[in-house]
Amino acid sequence: MRLVFLGPPGSGKGTQARMVSESMNIPQISTGDILREAVARRTDLGKKARSYMDAGQLVPDDIMLALIEKRVDGTDCTGGYILDGFPRTLAQAMGLDEILTQRGETIDLAILIEVADETVVRRLTRRRICPACHALYNLDTDRPKRDNLCDRCGVELVLRSDDEEKTVRTRLNVYRNDTLPLADYYDSKGILRKVDGEGSVDEVFASIMGILTEVRQS
Ligand code: AMP
Repeated sequence: MRLVFLGPPGSGKGTQARMVSESMNIPQISTGDILREAVARRTDLGKKARSYMDAGQLVPDDIMLALIEKRVDGTDCTGGYILDGFPRTLAQAMGLDEILTQRGETIDLAILIEVADETVVRRLTRRRICPACHALYNLDTDRPKRDNLCDRCGVELVLRSDDEEKTVRTRLNVYRNDTLPLADYYDSKGILRKVDGEGSVDEVFASIMGILTEVRQS
């Protein structure tokens, strides 16, 4: 199955994509993670993307489409994948469809995880990330076992620069203006399903798996 996960920053998209990826044994393709890695390694892509990311703005569509075209060609993608954080604009969604059409493929399902703005702000400003393995924590709901250290690698956790409140509000505006219209795009193709993202991680996961089971059986 080729899946798209949509939702505002802080909707739990990444966490859910990881869980579904493990459960279905298909890769999670997180464009945010790919870009952060490129920034950390100071590659050409990272140098181009950094200023946009720090400002909470979107990296230009042509850069993102080139990145995704290469990634979905990976040998691990033959059985499907979950796109997490891509597409983010109508141009990206249409570009993705063109790439897939050339390969004789389509997106099977787009899952929109809905949460209120204030939930997003609270979750993101309390979120911490491991700069080494990208594991995510939350100081309210998912604290690391040792204060501010990653459970897996012991590295000191950080607040992502784009998780500061001012940047979070910018990202929410960008989401509403540029990304939310994608819900209509996928709805018009009959492949959009919505999930309430306000519940616990396990509740949201159960809703998503319910939808996936239903779609696979139909
Ligand atoms: P995320 O971790 O998905 O919230 O992404 C972090 C940042 O990476 C975003 O705020 C954007 O600056 C950039 N980014 C990630 N995915 C995309 C995309 N599909 N299009 C443009 N920019 C992106």
